[in-house]
Amino acid sequence: MIQETLTRFSNKYGSDGELVLAGGGNTSAKDGGILLVKGSGVPLAAIDADGFVKMDRVKLAHIMEKDYPKDDKEREAAALDDLMAARLPSERLKRPSVETLLHNLFPQRYVLHLHPALVNGLTCSANGEEEAQRLFGGGVLWIRPCKPGYVLSKICRDEMDEHKRKTGSDAAVMLLQNHGIFIAGGSEEELDDRLSNVIGKIQSRLTETPDFSPFTAENNLTKRFRERIDALYGKGFFTLFEGSRQAADFAKSVCDAAPLLKPFTPDHIVYCGAHPVFTRSPEALDADFLSCKSARGYAPKIIIAEGLGFFAVSESKKNSETALLMFKDAMKIAVYSKSFGGPLHMQDDLTDFIINWEAESYRSGQNN
Ligand SMILES: [Zn+2]
Repeated sequence: MIQETLTRFSNKYGSDGELVLAGGGNTSAKDGGILLVKGSGVPLAAIDADGFVKMDRVKLAHIMEKDYPKDDKEREAAALDDLMAARLPSERLKRPSVETLLHNLFPQRYVLHLHPALVNGLTCSANGEEEAQRLFGGGVLWIRPCKPGYVLSKICRDEMDEHKRKTGSDAAVMLLQNHGIFIAGGSEEELDDRLSNVIGKIQSRLTETPDFSPFTAENNLTKRFRERIDALYGKGFFTLFEGSRQAADFAKSVCDAAPLLKPFTPDHIVYCGAHPVFTRSPEALDADFLSCKSARGYAPKIIIAEGLGFFAVSESKKNSETALLMFKDAMKIAVYSKSFGGPLHMQDDLTDFIINWEAESYRSGQNN
């Protein structure tokens, strides 16, 4: 019964393109001393009973009490070893979500974690924290940015304990700045209610919504851009063009594009590269591409072309499609954030931390 409910709502939320993109988000349920949590790399939309990993809740709780090394790499490696050791013996071939510890912190039976653009319009905005207070009162926890992984789990644990001490009740909704939302409940209905309450309240405050209606069609200028991109990236790359009204609006000038030149959430770093490049013409692209490559060490995955829209360039069609989808997600966040004081990007030190973490870590792209 618990397992069926978990699978059902995972598939339901996972199939909603407004809530889940590119395998983002994860879910869990508690059954006595066992946590069933989404396996890393398994998409919510298609997950079945086998896609969840059974974990020992006592061992997971013990991880939160341990002393780990101060060094980032050593700490995360040691915590990951302990996370893997908390799998039940039957689960040794599976990999639990990297956000498993956060799921186990909630005492409620079911937990849903998502990165929806609408919610991130609030969590990635200059006045987000005060607006959340105004919209939801003290019932919603706000978590300020910090290093992902073990550090984030510890901070959430402390904030949840503090909330319980002050209010006498367990937090059921947690907003993570520049990241997403956790919702907990005793039933699927409770999750539904809490999510629609959050979404409804955010929607009620929006002064502007994104417009993805077609605007710039492929033309002679996009063709010239494509030729330059092919020449710069070489064989084996796949280029997609996005010319919606919204993309064209952001591409009007480098000032208009500013909200998109830094990442809002780790998803944008993972799938779009941390820093897109803005260029004024096919002729200017060579120099812009090279300066990005020498400054950052990688070829940009997103090229914003002045007056047109943007190009997503990756090693495969699937990766380009995901980059395009994720960059549209960043656009949505940028537009929604205007209703809450304007965009608030990830801090540069955290962006660098995630770039390094991603480069060598276990998440590597699809695994959430
Ligand atoms: Zn997340």
